[in-house]
Amino acid sequence: MTDRRTELASNLASVEERIVSACAAAGRKREEVTLIVVTKTYPASDVRILRELGVRHMAENRDQDAAPKAAACADLDLVWHFVGQLQTNKVRSVASYADIVQSIDRIKLVTALSTAAVRAGREVGCLIQVALDAEEGARGDRGGVAPDGIGELAAAVDGAPGLRLDGLMTVAPLAGPFAGRQQAAFERLMEFSSSLRAAHPAANMVSAGMSADLEEAVAAGATHVRVGTAVLGVRPRLG
Ligand SMILES: *Cc1c(COP(=O)(O)O)cnc(C)c1O
Repeated sequence: MTDRRTELASNLASVEERIVSACAAAGRKREEVTLIVVTKTYPASDVRILRELGVRHMAENRDQDAAPKAAACADLDLVWHFVGQLQTNKVRSVASYADIVQSIDRIKLVTALSTAAVRAGREVGCLIQVALDAEEGARGDRGGVAPDGIGELAAAVDGAPGLRLDGLMTVAPLAGPFAGRQQAAFERLMEFSSSLRAAHPAANMVSAGMSADLEEAVAAGATHVRVGTAVLGVRPRLG
């Protein structure tokens, strides 16, 4: 094994152990939680190693980095998640490789992504990103719609050609009433997920939890955790 492969295998084993323990503590089955590895700022060669180590779900947050990486790994059987703030001028590119866009937070983006998905002849799964700390009718600093906007966006995605409504995503707020209370934040997201599923039963994905708080997300009921640093190492630059 190369050094990098050894390092990734060891990090992955630690993360896997954390997920297994968190599932056991929550009385959940390990299969209920999918690990998405966030490969942003890391090269396609790492994606290739991760696939060999059994990871299938990868996430990126910038189209400039994601598009060439997805192209370089087109021969691999991967599920690409887009998790960053998305400008409408990038949707055409993103719709060409992303299987799931987790950062849906405005109607204009739904409309643009729908057009792009239809043009690409692809179905793109969509998660509505919820900003738990945003004021009513507003959006969060790091993207996401305030909770009162979930219903309208869900209906828009549901009615948009080329798009599939898959569920909800959040990033634990750094400020506001949920600051430092990740589990409470993720439990709140689960409540919004229950309401969403009442109207859209198939939209059962709940993406929450990162390297620092995956245990809290699993405890709250997340179906997907997004882990970067704990698998790949501390990122060389902000991303
Ligand atoms: C970078 C990123 C992650 C992973 O964060 P780590 O702390 O490195 O695990 C998860 N979700 C989103 C939206 C990200 O941008």
